[in-house]
Amino acid sequence: MKSFLEKIFIAKGDITSFDVEAIVNAANTSLLGGGGVDGAIHKAAGPELLKECISLKGCESGKAKITKAYRLMAKYIIHTPGPIYKNGKSGESSLLESCYKNCMTLAKEYNISSIAFPAISTGVYSFPKEDACKIALKTVFAFVDKEKYFPTIYFVLYDDENFLIYKNEFEKVKNELQTISE
Ligand code: ADP
Repeated sequence: MKSFLEKIFIAKGDITSFDVEAIVNAANTSLLGGGGVDGAIHKAAGPELLKECISLKGCESGKAKITKAYRLMAKYIIHTPGPIYKNGKSGESSLLESCYKNCMTLAKEYNISSIAFPAISTGVYSFPKEDACKIALKTVFAFVDKEKYFPTIYFVLYDDENFLIYKNEFEKVKNELQTISE
């Protein structure tokens, strides 16, 4: 079994309360806050976060920008606007992949030792949850393996449906990787 899998966890809860070095925000392109997890993060981090976000002048979908985390336990917030799901034929999958990849690239650059991801785009942006989960796991696992960067990683799910999907998919991937390494 790939040993990096021992530092990867599927968790249920509110990402704002996670004691990790960085949390990822499923932001929108304005970076000025919104609903869902974005709203919860801004509320918990406090108004200083909005001030820093204003100075960033937005972020394209699929890209990522980092800020301090102010009143959160985390030290950093990595903001990434996910794709809005239209019909699945507008580059949504590759944009979602870019979100995870660019977040991991920033995390590596900042030498972050623990990071928590929400299920980007699976709320208001309507990305089908199973497909989004597969992209999240595949992209992050490929990154750690290729870059030899092994932070502790939490995938934090807020709703039961996403939590079950992630649990199942994680088991599947683990089994697949085990078979390959045998
Ligand atoms: P998007 O616009 O990228 O779809 P949303 O915030 O609407 O972003 O939803 C993304 C995911 O975040 C959804 O699966 C939603 O259930 C989840 N979510 C909402 N609030 C929280 C929270 N406090 N902690 C973790 N996940 C959350």
